[in-house]
Amino acid sequence: MNECGAVVRVRGLSKEHGQGPGLVRAVDEVDLDVPAGQALAVTGPSGCGKSTLLHILGGLERPTRGEAWLAGRRIDALSERALARLRRRSVGFVFQAFHLVEELSAAENVELPALLAGHSPRAARRRAAALLEQMGLADRARHLPWQLSGGQRQRVAIARALANDPLVLLADEPTGNLDTTATLDVLRLFDDLRAAGQTLVIVTHDERVAATADRLISMRDGTFVDDTRLAGRGGRLGGLIELGD
Ligand code: ADP
Ligand code: MG
Repeated sequence: MNECGAVVRVRGLSKEHGQGPGLVRAVDEVDLDVPAGQALAVTGPSGCGKSTLLHILGGLERPTRGEAWLAGRRIDALSERALARLRRRSVGFVFQAFHLVEELSAAENVELPALLAGHSPRAARRRAAALLEQMGLADRARHLPWQLSGGQRQRVAIARALANDPLVLLADEPTGNLDTTATLDVLRLFDDLRAAGQTLVIVTHDERVAATADRLISMRDGTFVDDTRLAGRGGRLGGLIELGD
């Protein structure tokens, strides 16, 4: 952790894709600090650079210019190998399309990152069982992904993202493929994680998801056009759950 306690910090961050007339500046000179325990939502129209930003924060992509830190450690210039290690040990990703391994059971999907992060097989099994229980999926542990609903699959994916005790959980449109009931289940989980002090960055089009965060950043054309602290915790999900009924 650096002196300000920011888990995520970027300065002057830019990312360009392509070259010449085809050049796209996906992220344009962005500065950001996400303190430990904050739940940050990032919204904005399609193509404004949300996924690119998230990928850089988690070491999936490198910036073209600027600096990025995770818990005080510079990550923008790490080698591929060091970035892979960082992702395995310190970052959790949740994607819109779940990206579960179809041949593995729910429990095995969750065990895999725990094993890759260096846990023993026994510890990984225990960790997976505890996380699936926390996600309300204890009775689905042996199911394959195709035997689960979309909401259940996303909850397995969230359990998987937590298996390595990540410094930050990064979610890219996590409810984009879910119906209202499943969305509310996932929102409840994010709320629990936030209450437990998990640092979260959630990219979302869904106002219901954004409304549960501590802070909301709006992006346009690779830049931040608004950065708002949202009202205090508590009570918001209750209202949303009524809306969903
Ligand atoms: P968002 O997630 O907000 O929809 P993205 O970060 O995916 O936005 O994309 C930002 C811009 O960068 C878009 O114009 C997109 O087409 C472009 N882009 C993203 N990834 C690539 C890539 N790998 N190659 C070329 N252009 C890309
Ligand atoms: Mg995107």
